[in-house]
Amino acid sequence: MPEGDSVWRAANQLHQALAGQELTASDFRVPRFATLNLAGWTVSEVVPRGKHLLMRVQGPDGQKLTIHSHLKMEGAWQVYPAGGRWRKPGFTARCVLRTAAADAVGFSLGVLEVVRTDAEDSVVGHLGPDLLGPDWDPAEAERRIRSAPDVPIGVALLDQRNLAGIGNIYRCEACFLSGVHPASPVSAVEDLQTLMTDAKQLLEVNLGSGRRVTILNPRGLPVGRQAGRPGYWVYGREHRPCLKCGTHVGHDVLGKPGGEEERHIYFCPQCQPLLPLL
Ligand SMILES: [Zn+2]
Repeated sequence: MPEGDSVWRAANQLHQALAGQELTASDFRVPRFATLNLAGWTVSEVVPRGKHLLMRVQGPDGQKLTIHSHLKMEGAWQVYPAGGRWRKPGFTARCVLRTAAADAVGFSLGVLEVVRTDAEDSVVGHLGPDLLGPDWDPAEAERRIRSAPDVPIGVALLDQRNLAGIGNIYRCEACFLSGVHPASPVSAVEDLQTLMTDAKQLLEVNLGSGRRVTILNPRGLPVGRQAGRPGYWVYGREHRPCLKCGTHVGHDVLGKPGGEEERHIYFCPQCQPLLPLL
């Protein structure tokens, strides 16, 4: 499952390549929209909403549509020079949008649909406040998370109806930074605001290109971008020593939400004691 920062980067790249441009061809390789042809339409903008991508297009007659996609587990949007050779297998392409200068190709998209722009709420209206959005509302996010006090905090943080943008890596890392075991219930977490602020900071420092890291110095700058250094405190580091206390990092599976990958949690049993339901 992607993190909000990768969706933000994809939206940014697509916006740079497509905004203001007229589509010369479109190809939707999903049955429901196979006959839709957006040639002659102009891309207004591409915006991220949590882990969802919204590409807004306007027809010659002023009609407004939104191409809604979600990367889910394997999806990716890539931009090539017009006619450029794709770096992923053609049979995995789900959407191809061409302009005079560029081809944007969505591969293995978990969701691809087209809705009227004034009906976008039908596809993203359920999302909680977006950690990377202009409307980020930490009090509302806390209210939503605390409405289910028995749910493990690690599950609540991935539930995009509570707050949008956190995937498994930042879920694990933000819990570590707060000393909270991801399987502890929401009711046992005293300071949700600090936990969410940490998650937001991790997303923000990773908006640029380069290796994703969550280890920051006291000034909030990443220190693990060099090859050979750990980039994460606990994510993917099971059986290795905790970078704070030396205890072996633990690994377990938790709850449900989305895909398989999201069930895996990493934590330091010493720094993140499992707290009981209050
Ligand atoms: Zn530790």
